[in-house]
Amino acid sequence: MIYLDYNATTPCDPEVVAAMLPYFSQKFGNAASKTHPYGWIADEAVEQARRQVARLIGATEQEVIFTSGSTEGCNLALKGVFELYAVKGNHIITCVTEHKAVLDTCQHLEQRGATVTYLPVDAAGLISLEELEAAIRPETILIAVMYANNETGVIQPVKAIGAIAKKHKVLFFSDATQAAGKLPLDVQTDGIDLLALSAHKLYGPKGVGALYIRRKGPRVSLKAQIDGGGHERGFRSGTLNVPGIAGLGKACSLCSEGMEAEQQRLRSLRDQLEQGLLQSGDVSVNGSLQSRMPHVSNLSFRGIKAERMISALNSELAFSVGSACTSASKAPSHVLEAMGLDQASLDGAIRFSLGRFTTAEEIAQTINLVRAQLDRLKY
Ligand SMILES: *Cc1c(COP(=O)(O)O)cnc(C)c1O
Repeated sequence: MIYLDYNATTPCDPEVVAAMLPYFSQKFGNAASKTHPYGWIADEAVEQARRQVARLIGATEQEVIFTSGSTEGCNLALKGVFELYAVKGNHIITCVTEHKAVLDTCQHLEQRGATVTYLPVDAAGLISLEELEAAIRPETILIAVMYANNETGVIQPVKAIGAIAKKHKVLFFSDATQAAGKLPLDVQTDGIDLLALSAHKLYGPKGVGALYIRRKGPRVSLKAQIDGGGHERGFRSGTLNVPGIAGLGKACSLCSEGMEAEQQRLRSLRDQLEQGLLQSGDVSVNGSLQSRMPHVSNLSFRGIKAERMISALNSELAFSVGSACTSASKAPSHVLEAMGLDQASLDGAIRFSLGRFTTAEEIAQTINLVRAQLDRLKY
C-alpha cells in the first residue's frame, strides 16, 4: 500500500516513538509535581521539548505553550484574542480558504458579536495584500491567515502580511500546521504574533501541538479557554501530556535537521509525479506554481470523478479528494471552489501529499496505477 496522504496525517518517526516511550511507564511523573524527582524528570522533558519547538520557529521557549493540536491552537488564538482585546475592537480578518478550525471558530465568534471579513483568493489560491490592507479598520484586532494550505499547498505571502499587520498595530495569527517542520519559518522575520502547529502533521503523535504567543514587540495575551490549575502560565490548564510533548519536541528537532535536503528530495518526487500525470489527458495543477509547498500536488482530472478514482485504488493507494479534514461532510472543497474552479475540475480534483517515507519507486507505481484508471473512469 502506498501512502500519499501526508497532509491528513503523518506516521510517527521511529525516533519520535523511541523518545516518547520512557515517559509512559518509567518516567511517568506529573510535570507539575514539584516535590519529587518523578515530577522533575517529567518537567525536564517538557522544557526540553519547549526549546525544540521554539528553535523550529525562531521563538523563545517562554513563548511556546502546549495544546492538544492545531484545532485547539486555532480556537485558543482566535477566541482568546477576541475576548481579551474586546475593548479595542471586534473585527477579525481571515481568508475563505482557511481550515475549518479557523472558519468554524470565526463563525462561532460572529454569534458572539465579532465582525469577520473573509478575504477572497485569486485563481492561484492567494489573497490580495491590497484587499487585506483595505479591510483593516480602527476596530480590527486580528488578522488570521494560514501559512500554507492543506489542500493545495499554496503558501500565502506571510512576511508581507506580517508587515501590514505591524504597520496597523493589528495582531497576526497564522495557522502553520502544514508549514511547520517543512518550510524554514521564523516568527521574527515573518512578523507573526501567534502561530499554531500540530505534532501529527510533522511525524509526531496525534493529540498534541503547540501555540506560539509573542512576548515582545508586542507582548500578546490571551483569555484562556480551559481553566483549572493554571498550567502553561495560565493560558492552558490541564495535566501536561508528557509523552506526547516529548514526541513533539523530538519531531521538531528531526524536521529542523535536514529540512533543505528533504524539501529538494520531495520537490523532485512531486515534479516527477506531476510530469507523469499531466501528460495523461485533461489534467491541470491547482494552486500557485510559484508559491507552493514542495510535497503537495492538487490535480484536476477533468472527465473523471475523484471519488471513483480513489475508491478504485483504495487497496493500493491512499490519497484524498479535496480535504481529508472535512471529508466527513461530502460538500465540494471550499478551497477549490473559492479559487473559481469549474464543475469538472472540482469533480476531478485529487490531492497527493508526499512525505518522509515516500520513495521514487512509489511515485513510479502511483503514476502507473492512476493512469491505468483514467480511461476506464472517463465519463
Ligand atoms: C490538520 C490541520 C489542522 C487541525 O490540526 P489538528 O492537530 O488535527 O487538530 C488545522 N489546520 C490545518 C491547516 C491543518 O492541516
